[in-house]
Amino acid sequence: MDEFRSNIIDNIDAAAGLAREGLCDRCLGRMFGKVGTGTTNNLRGIEIREILSERGIDAPPADPCPLCENVFDLLDRFADAAAEKVNDVESDNFLIGTRVEPEIAAKEKDLVERHGPTSSESIKAELNREIGKVAIHKINRPVEFKNPQVVACVDTRFADVSLDIAPIFIAGRYNKFSREIPQTIWPCRECHGKGCARCGGQGKMYSTSVQEVIGDVALEMSHGEEHFFHGMGREDIDACMLGDGRPFVLEISKPRKRGIDLDELEKRANASDLAAYSALHFVSREAVQIYKGSDPDKTYKARVRAQGKVNKERVNEVALSFKNVQIDQRTPQRVEHRRADLVRKRGIRWVKAEVVGDDVFDLTLSTESGTYVKEFVSGDEGRTSPNFSDALGVRCVVETLDVLSIDYQEPTRD
Ligand SMILES: [Zn+2]
Ligand SMILES: [Zn+2]
Repeated sequence: MDEFRSNIIDNIDAAAGLAREGLCDRCLGRMFGKVGTGTTNNLRGIEIREILSERGIDAPPADPCPLCENVFDLLDRFADAAAEKVNDVESDNFLIGTRVEPEIAAKEKDLVERHGPTSSESIKAELNREIGKVAIHKINRPVEFKNPQVVACVDTRFADVSLDIAPIFIAGRYNKFSREIPQTIWPCRECHGKGCARCGGQGKMYSTSVQEVIGDVALEMSHGEEHFFHGMGREDIDACMLGDGRPFVLEISKPRKRGIDLDELEKRANASDLAAYSALHFVSREAVQIYKGSDPDKTYKARVRAQGKVNKERVNEVALSFKNVQIDQRTPQRVEHRRADLVRKRGIRWVKAEVVGDDVFDLTLSTESGTYVKEFVSGDEGRTSPNFSDALGVRCVVETLDVLSIDYQEPTRD
């Protein structure tokens, strides 16, 4: 005797009880859907009714079925609706999901509890699978369970389909050549994005940003909904990002086109002279956390003005004295309103100086992530110690600050 038949005989009371509820063959079979392989719930139901009738139990299905209300008659319609939506979007794979009427889910739970079959499959799982089986011929893309790019969610009440499209993530490096744009969209302080007199109706504090210069192009190319920018740290608005640039990940939500041409994106974004982008490549969602979690050392170039003439040798001496020095930095006055007031220990790796005028010199310096460079130079009224001004004996102020490099090695990709 095969496994299925013997299992039903062992659970004959549950099978009889469920059949007497008037379940259709498919629903009756589904109540034992995890028993046996190489069959369908419909065939399981037919076999259960045969086993019951051999024992003189005659319990025909009701019409409509009290559980599924014959919803499976509409599989073609559901599959058509899903295919229409999915085919409108570019993806390498898809998955079908269903939203089952709450009353049907409640009835299913009640039947299982009252009759106690122990190996039932849910109606939701069967709908997902059966709609998928029909839809795959109309969609011509493989089904992906783990990381589907598109999920078509079928609401069985109205044969209504909503799409859940996974975002795309594009990594690269950016340079910022303007001291007037921020890294990311900066919503207006007054209206928080709605548009007001202060922001001239734009809803933001700055007309554009490193994010928008590339994000707007990527959004247009991918027919996406919104862009998000994840930088590996950020520089001040008035600082440029030079050298090899800063690593970032651009996220595009609900892209209707995924395989966009990154060379074209790079070219179009680089038409702006405010920022530049390079080394664009697609990455997985995990890259965002990796980028956000790294705090690499950075190299800066600062143009410094001293309050008085400086001696070239002395400036060089002071610069060299900061090789591998740890400093205490109390939260700078300028960011005090948004950061906790703490004293942080930061490392200065090395400093090089070049005097360019009587009271002007350039410092190139490598520091641990999170070091406030302007305050290291000025001393921030004693809040950073030791600091460059005290060591030189002349008060110095950073006039311009540029980031020369972010010392981050992209993990090798295979
Ligand atoms: Zn049914
Ligand atoms: Zn505003």
